[in-house]
Amino acid sequence: MSDDWLPLQKIVTVLDDKQSVEDLKRYFVNHPKPFTGSQFEALGGGPIALHRDVVTAEDLIAVQLLEVRVPPAVALNLLQGDLGQRISDELREIPISVDLADEGARKYIQNGGPADRAWHRLTAQPGVSKTIAGKVLARKRPRLIPVYDSVLACALHGRHGFWLWLHEQLRADNCRLARRLRNLRVKANVPAHVSDIRIFDVVFWMRHQGEHRRRNCQGLSINGFED
Ligand SMILES: [Zn+2]
Repeated sequence: MSDDWLPLQKIVTVLDDKQSVEDLKRYFVNHPKPFTGSQFEALGGGPIALHRDVVTAEDLIAVQLLEVRVPPAVALNLLQGDLGQRISDELREIPISVDLADEGARKYIQNGGPADRAWHRLTAQPGVSKTIAGKVLARKRPRLIPVYDSVLACALHGRHGFWLWLHEQLRADNCRLARRLRNLRVKANVPAHVSDIRIFDVVFWMRHQGEHRRRNCQGLSINGFED
């Protein structure tokens, strides 16, 4: 592994910074023109309500709220074709109640697990990037599958194995990170439909999206955070 993920201590330092509370409020609560992604989980009553194992048209609109789009041919295949059936087969094996921070989460997300199989089925489709596939699955299992894109990858200095890496970080040091996320939820008054791991994504995305537009971005600027 050549990956050099941001160490847990620095992650906690960013989460504890007061700007993170402000960023969460801007994203979810009191931004004058709310971020569309704030409705990712809530749209249509959420993914769990009726169609827990079926990718619906609402799910495909929900991923557009995160600024990606499933190509039309793949969308049709998901809604009324074989691909949708195959993804449903995998989703049926994943409970809706499991959190990424749970000890038992690993078997669903590890290589060859049902979420991994679903992800590979999606990324095998023309025009479906790793980011798009991840966002579709995050919509179906928001407590288990984290939202991830190029901004997050850059901010966290990571490339491969994000799900398992975050699972391990959430559990490290007696679940220190998981507790920090719940604390942030209270401080920023994040809506109840938003999962803990989405709070993680939004904090790092909000912090890095502006500076990421620089040419040759070298990752999250942590000047001013050093101890
Ligand atoms: Zn960057």
